[in-house]
Amino acid sequence: MSPALSLRELRKSFGSLIATDGLSLDLAAGEVHAVIGPNGAGKSTLIGQITGELRPDTGMVLLNGRDVTGWPVERRALAGLGRSFQITQLVHGFTVEDNVALAVQARAGHSFRFWTDARSDTRLRNPARHALATTGLTARADTLVEDLSHGEMRQLELAVALALQPQVLILDEPMAGMGASDSRQVVSILRQLKGWVTILLVEHDMDAVFALADRISVLVAGRIVASGTAGEIRNDPRVRAAYLGEEKIHA
Ligand code: ADP
Ligand code: MG
Repeated sequence: MSPALSLRELRKSFGSLIATDGLSLDLAAGEVHAVIGPNGAGKSTLIGQITGELRPDTGMVLLNGRDVTGWPVERRALAGLGRSFQITQLVHGFTVEDNVALAVQARAGHSFRFWTDARSDTRLRNPARHALATTGLTARADTLVEDLSHGEMRQLELAVALALQPQVLILDEPMAGMGASDSRQVVSILRQLKGWVTILLVEHDMDAVFALADRISVLVAGRIVASGTAGEIRNDPRVRAAYLGEEKIHA
């Protein structure tokens, strides 16, 4: 079976700066793979090349064995690549569930765009409800989005990503800016997804990473310097060196 996501020899430079330096990585179906690394290591640049916002200079991105390197963002999304969105354009005056349905409609391609009422179309409503249940927001389905707490707003971002029923989900710092209790909530949501969705997780919160990841890769200066299970990574001297003074890895 092909890996769910395969990165082959990706290279990306910005002028003279090599942001991704011949990076290869395979994610098996159902795996949660965390990518950690200091600021400026190239994590966001890597994510951009996977989602299609950035083109690698050379190398390939394969989704379920298909070469998607030249595909635009929307086409990758339709092929099963999901990501968490920073929601900046929630529609105030609409409920939580309506907002998920609208987001599905907006991103699900032209077939849903014309003359469909997102609030009554079951093709939009069912995935919306299911995603709200998975993210623990069912009780808030009829709440107006503007009445959500910050933590619930972040759960809603995850709900939107899940409503598109991705096979591979890319998460760029889903716990950023969260307090401990909201972080734990997101960890428990992601735990439920384990085995169902292949997840590439970029996250600074090491407790979350060690709680969730099947494997961890450490990115430094655009290269993976170590890859292994949580236990292997915790005790890797190169990882400790790379993080010295910047990150704390709990032993
Ligand atoms: P991370 O997400 O791990 O903090 P980034 O992928 O954002 O790292 O950045 C990797 C390196 O590439 C950094 O040195 C950053 O300054 C540089 N970089 C990222 N995006 C651009 C860009 N659009 N133009 C020029 N340099 C960039
Ligand atoms: Mg980044």
